Amino acid sequence: MTHDLPPIRESLEAHGLLARKSFGQHFLLDLNVTRKIARFAGPFDGRAVIEVGPGPGGLTRALLESDAGPVILVEKDPRFIPLLNELDDGSGRLSIVEGDALKVREAELATGPAHLVSNLPYNVGTALLIKWLTGPWRPHALTLMFQKEVAERVVAAPGDDAYGRLAVISQAVCEARIVMHLPAAAFTPPPKVASAVVHLVPHAETPDAATLKRLERITAAAFGQRRKMLRSSLKQLGGAALCEAAGIEPDARAEVIDLDGFLRLADALDRQERSA
Ligand code: SAM
Repeated sequence: MTHDLPPIRESLEAHGLLARKSFGQHFLLDLNVTRKIARFAGPFDGRAVIEVGPGPGGLTRALLESDAGPVILVEKDPRFIPLLNELDDGSGRLSIVEGDALKVREAELATGPAHLVSNLPYNVGTALLIKWLTGPWRPHALTLMFQKEVAERVVAAPGDDAYGRLAVISQAVCEARIVMHLPAAAFTPPPKVASAVVHLVPHAETPDAATLKRLERITAAAFGQRRKMLRSSLKQLGGAALCEAAGIEPDARAEVIDLDGFLRLADALDRQERSA
């Protein structure tokens, strides 16, 4: 449980804090909402939780009420550190790191498996997700608030308008689903767009770093020219021959190829480059 704390709005006022656009700051001040997100993210069973961008700490308060073990915060805006310190009950459970989540090494923040939970700053949300999916550190699970369009791109299936690189990379590593939708009005100040929370759980076996790199090259080329047939969008990587080696119809377009098809293309690219 958290010790006695004033409502978050009062904490913000007491510290004279206003949201800054350059940090992508849109706050959740309603604890009923942040508790719901923490419930979707858990159960944590005592595992560590890393929260990126705690801001005024609405989600942090919910995490501190949960069954999380250590709660580790990474916040780039130094103005919030004194306010976040007030959430510390002195038990040693809360750690506050002032820094850029794009640069921190998560393995150095938490020992053992850790969950990532964040109401992400929208301007770096996709870059952070790619870092956590393809980097050397593997989270136990991720529960992340994105703008709705990005959330839809993460969970999209072949044939969906939103299907593209982000869906393929995300789903190569994780099982991903949208667990909650939030209107812009739920945030202070409200952003221009609606939001959604995505819960991602890594598969028991995930592609290695080299395979993910090849998958990134293939999806960048294939979806970079999504209206073209793969024989031409993948020309630089082997075109029709690569498709045939992967058992993929060269006249197909990227939007109909499922994850397994892209993994076969990555495999064929590996074989092709080894024999070159
Ligand atoms: N979690 C809070 C909430 O739900 O009310 C704030 C969410 S706000 C959308 C995003 C937060 O991420 C802000 O506190 C912002 O300062 C912080 N932030 C922005 N860029 C960051 C980065 N690169 N690394 C760490 N924190 C960042």
